[in-house]
Amino acid sequence: MEIKVMKNILGENDKIAAENRKMFREKKIVVVNLMGSPGSGKTSLLEKTLSKIAEKINVAVIEGDLFTARDAERIERHKIPVVQINTSGGCHLDAAMVRRAAESINLDETDLLIVENVGNLVCPAEFDVGENFKAVVLSITEGDDKPMKYPLIFKESAITLLNKIDLLPFTNFDVAAAREDLTTLHPNIEIIETSCTKNIGLDAWADWLLKKVEVI
Ligand code: MG
Ligand code: ZN
Repeated sequence: MEIKVMKNILGENDKIAAENRKMFREKKIVVVNLMGSPGSGKTSLLEKTLSKIAEKINVAVIEGDLFTARDAERIERHKIPVVQINTSGGCHLDAAMVRRAAESINLDETDLLIVENVGNLVCPAEFDVGENFKAVVLSITEGDDKPMKYPLIFKESAITLLNKIDLLPFTNFDVAAAREDLTTLHPNIEIIETSCTKNIGLDAWADWLLKKVEVI
């Protein structure tokens, strides 16, 4: 019975996600759904790269959070249009929430829309919001076992950012093992090692985003 209910929810979500995808395609907007655990560094990675990207293309951000607008305030400081979604405790964004948020964005003047999802490695991967690409941030402090423990999010994502890589000497994180598990789950996945504090991999992440906009 519960399984049936879940399927109905996902079916309804997929319908709205398809409408979102059509709308974004008509407006020639690339949409990236940025996912990862709480504290993995999603907002910091955006802060470090969006200003650079915004010199070349028009970027907008949708911030998903349980209760606060703190991440949206951080993005706004960089003069980038941002809309906050508060899920009131809901653990993921869905397509209807993103559609409502998109109504507050000037879509005619947007090339790249980044949706920072609620911090969670599980259900954000199950709910299509109409994005072109999913991206997942895995900080190395979370442990190298996470890809195999939460396979869906890594299977669905076009790219994994191995973040806080500067902390490697202080952890037992095995980068080679994590890379192997990630490519086992998703043979074409791109992997970039990043650090916001030591400025590692940030240009590569910015270039990855810019290239997605050029191609479409
Ligand atoms: Mg955040
Ligand atoms: Zn959820």
